[in-house]
Amino acid sequence: LRVLGIESSCDETGVALVELPEGVAGAAAPRLLAHALHSQIDMHQAYGGVVPELASRDHIRRVVPLLRETLAGAGLGLEAVDVVAHTRGPGLAGALLVGTGAACALAMALDRPVLGVHHLEGHLLSPFLSVDPPEFPFVALLVSGGHTQLMRVDGVGRYALLGETIDDAAGEAFDKSAKMLGLGYPGGPALARLAEQGHPQAYRLPRPLLRGDLLDFSFAGLKTAVWTQLAKIDAGEDTAGDGHAQERADLAASTQAAIVEVLVAKSLLALKQTGLKRLVVAGGVGANRQLRADLDAQCRRRGVRVHYPELHLCTDNGAMIALAAAMRLQSGQAEARRQYDFDVRPRWDLASV
Ligand code: ATP
Ligand code: MG
Ligand code: FE
Repeated sequence: LRVLGIESSCDETGVALVELPEGVAGAAAPRLLAHALHSQIDMHQAYGGVVPELASRDHIRRVVPLLRETLAGAGLGLEAVDVVAHTRGPGLAGALLVGTGAACALAMALDRPVLGVHHLEGHLLSPFLSVDPPEFPFVALLVSGGHTQLMRVDGVGRYALLGETIDDAAGEAFDKSAKMLGLGYPGGPALARLAEQGHPQAYRLPRPLLRGDLLDFSFAGLKTAVWTQLAKIDAGEDTAGDGHAQERADLAASTQAAIVEVLVAKSLLALKQTGLKRLVVAGGVGANRQLRADLDAQCRRRGVRVHYPELHLCTDNGAMIALAAAMRLQSGQAEARRQYDFDVRPRWDLASV
């Protein structure tokens, strides 16, 4: 069974083809045959964030060329596609409509069934495409640009929310701090790079909700603290004449340290509370090196195995959408249908899927 996946929830257009080996009931791992991706980051950079209308228009331009690229990469024709999957939500309504409309039109033309996928389920299951896929059950730390959640995952479609951010997401905390530091958009990776030149203990930044048994997060206070600290730095005398380069690197390192410490502590607490010995990290912030290093060290000490998606599959892509659809079909949790009228769900709770 070959599943084509289309992702267009935000500022990446992604198309991918995943194959599910048949016969071996429920056991065989899905395989990524090919995928193609276009990021709109350069386009939105000038505005300091994603402009929804520009995003939708660009998805329209990209989706067919990316489809061609994917099929060429797999060495297959359109008739090789058995099911068409698309991101149904959550995300930007206009952007979601492009991928969803394209998927339904394609499926209708090919007379194939179509299946809408939850974007976060894609992130959550993306480590199943890695060389070291996890096994159920596990605790999942979902850290993306718009979400920060801890979940107990007992199988495909069996997701229980353990805790989540009450304000900003971890990726948002990275991005907003980076923006204040003048590092562009989305600044998470740039902030992580700058942090390598700084001292993580240089500035004491808040770690809200760190203590106690709650598995919720809060990152809104951090950006205020970064803002205050940055104002102090800029008000100081620039003795080295380099625009306070070292202090800025120190602040970047301290910011990253605050975010990572909270994410690690809460993940360990979730593992302790559930008694599970397996952690899956997914979403864009899962690409952060410091987070990976600290989680690896802490989990090794506790006999916990940590699984990550391949680095290039941490941020949005079509592969995770094709994969989530394939795994849903494989586990009997969903049915693809020849029904081509569609809607999207800009706001959609994963636990309700
Ligand atoms: P959502 O999935 O919640 O709708 P999204 O799709 O925008 O949000 P992702 O594509 O999963 O989010 O991840 C993007 C986020 O990951 C951005 O906030 C980005 O700054 C952050 N990010 C990517 N790489 C790194 C890194 N190395 N360190 C820190 N943050 C990173
Ligand atoms: Mg993105
Ligand atoms: Fe995402």
